[in-house]
Amino acid sequence: MREKYDVLVVGMGPSAIFTAYELINLNVNKRILLIDQGKKVENRFCPLEQTKECIKCKPFCNITSGFSGAGAFSDGKLSLYNKEDDDIYVGGNLQNYIGVEATKNLIDYTDKIYLKFGADEKLEGLEYKYEVEKMQKKSKEVGLNLISIPIRHLGTEKAHELYKRLEDYLTAHKVDMMFETIVEDLIIEDNKVKGVKIRQAKYKQYDRDEDIEEVYADNVVVAVGRKGANWLVDMCDKHKIKTKTGIVDIGVRYELPDEIMKDVNKYMYEGKFIGRPAPFKDKVRTFCQNPSGFVSEEVYDEGISLVNGHSYKERKSTNTNLAILVSHHFTYPFHKPIDYGRNVAKNVNELGNGNILVQRLGDILKGKRTWEKELKENSFEPTLKSAVAGDITFAIGYRTMTDILEFIKLVDKVVPGFANKDNLLYAPEIKFYSNQVEINNDFETSVEGLYSIGDGGGMTRGLMMASCSGVEMARILAKKFFVEK
Ligand SMILES: Cc1cc2nc3c(=O)[nH]c(=O)nc-3n(C[C@H](O)[C@H](O)[C@H](O)COP(=O)(O)OP(=O)(O)OC[C@H]3O[C@@H](n4cnc5c(N)ncnc54)[C@H](O)[C@@H]3O)c2cc1C
Repeated sequence: MREKYDVLVVGMGPSAIFTAYELINLNVNKRILLIDQGKKVENRFCPLEQTKECIKCKPFCNITSGFSGAGAFSDGKLSLYNKEDDDIYVGGNLQNYIGVEATKNLIDYTDKIYLKFGADEKLEGLEYKYEVEKMQKKSKEVGLNLISIPIRHLGTEKAHELYKRLEDYLTAHKVDMMFETIVEDLIIEDNKVKGVKIRQAKYKQYDRDEDIEEVYADNVVVAVGRKGANWLVDMCDKHKIKTKTGIVDIGVRYELPDEIMKDVNKYMYEGKFIGRPAPFKDKVRTFCQNPSGFVSEEVYDEGISLVNGHSYKERKSTNTNLAILVSHHFTYPFHKPIDYGRNVAKNVNELGNGNILVQRLGDILKGKRTWEKELKENSFEPTLKSAVAGDITFAIGYRTMTDILEFIKLVDKVVPGFANKDNLLYAPEIKFYSNQVEINNDFETSVEGLYSIGDGGGMTRGLMMASCSGVEMARILAKKFFVEK
């Protein structure tokens, strides 16, 4: 039997890393264990650039699993905040638990840690106040909200290096880390967490009871990201952990020439447009904008391929990509947003023979599919070479599709060319957030000693806020240890 830990964190994404970092910083002198199904950051590698098509790495996708979680291959845009704002507009709802001012302080603190580990000093989106305000005014006139906040851009290759430094730091400070290890189950007795059941990832395919081991801990922090959202739903069902029905964001990755986006890219780096287009009035927003970036592919459970995007600090394309996402809340009697999203994704994947589908906007408007030959003759080249030309409207629901098309028309009034017929829609882009796990202000679930942070439980939606939730988690645990003394 393994030794007992004081703190065990499931996952090694930014939220988990910053929990461990801050526990070290607070000198709690406790035994800490992090477990992830993926690899060390230096061993994570996506073969797509060589193979030109996603080979669906086994047992887990390197883009989403391992040290630094989804952060390793992310664009590394750290979203900060505007001092004058009375709310936090990007990155989730951590502020609902700790308050807006405390969240701003936490962002400042966490940003300094990123700087200490090598983030670029330069902040994007501060120079062009007048131009941004002009664009915001124009957006308002057409019924859109344009949010601009300062961004610290790490870039994909630099993010990798930064997280490697953090990995070395945790190792040097005696944090135990188990890689390529799946947390299969939680051990809960009398509504109190006791530890977890693990299995080495190499034995995943056999599904044998004898490969399961138990690890005990007084405090278990679930930090499984979107990758683990499905697992978390199963855990909540099995152990009767309280949840609220969450949302699922469904949409497309939109790619267009830098030339069209040049003002938004220059003035804001990432401009976040939000609207509620008629007739459904669903919330539609742009997300994760990558100037001169690349569209990418990632693989989730059951081999589902989702599209995403990123940009490098040095390597550049001539296209900008961004997500256009529609938030769907379901009402009685349906309460399975994750299943809904998975079904949409599966259908799109099937239409693409297991690949990401791509279609020109003009073809959608004409009511026809895009053919490979037409894609080759498009006025600009798609950056995701493995995407297959086809018809996404067969698989994306009428409501979602209408929301997206109406939204594109609105943005076109602010950014001329945004609705050009050659612009490309890749699908499926889906953000799973699990059913939101009910937590109190100390991030504790309805099970004693079991905590939930980061993207997985639905609290955050981005690198900075996920990292902040980790810092706050450590402070909460440190207080608990102090009281127990
Ligand atoms: C391509 C891409 C680009 C992105 N770009 C940006 C960006 O520019 N800016 C931004 O703010 N955000 C970006 N994001 C999102 C950002 O990466 C996430 O918001 C952030 O990583 C969430 O952190 P987390 O700790 O909550 O979870 P994650 O980073 O998802 O980490 C969760 C970890 O838990 C592990 N895990 C899950 N279940 C289990 C289990 N049962 N057993 C063991 N391990 C498990 C996973 O393997 C994973 O490593 C991007 C994401 C991607 C994929």
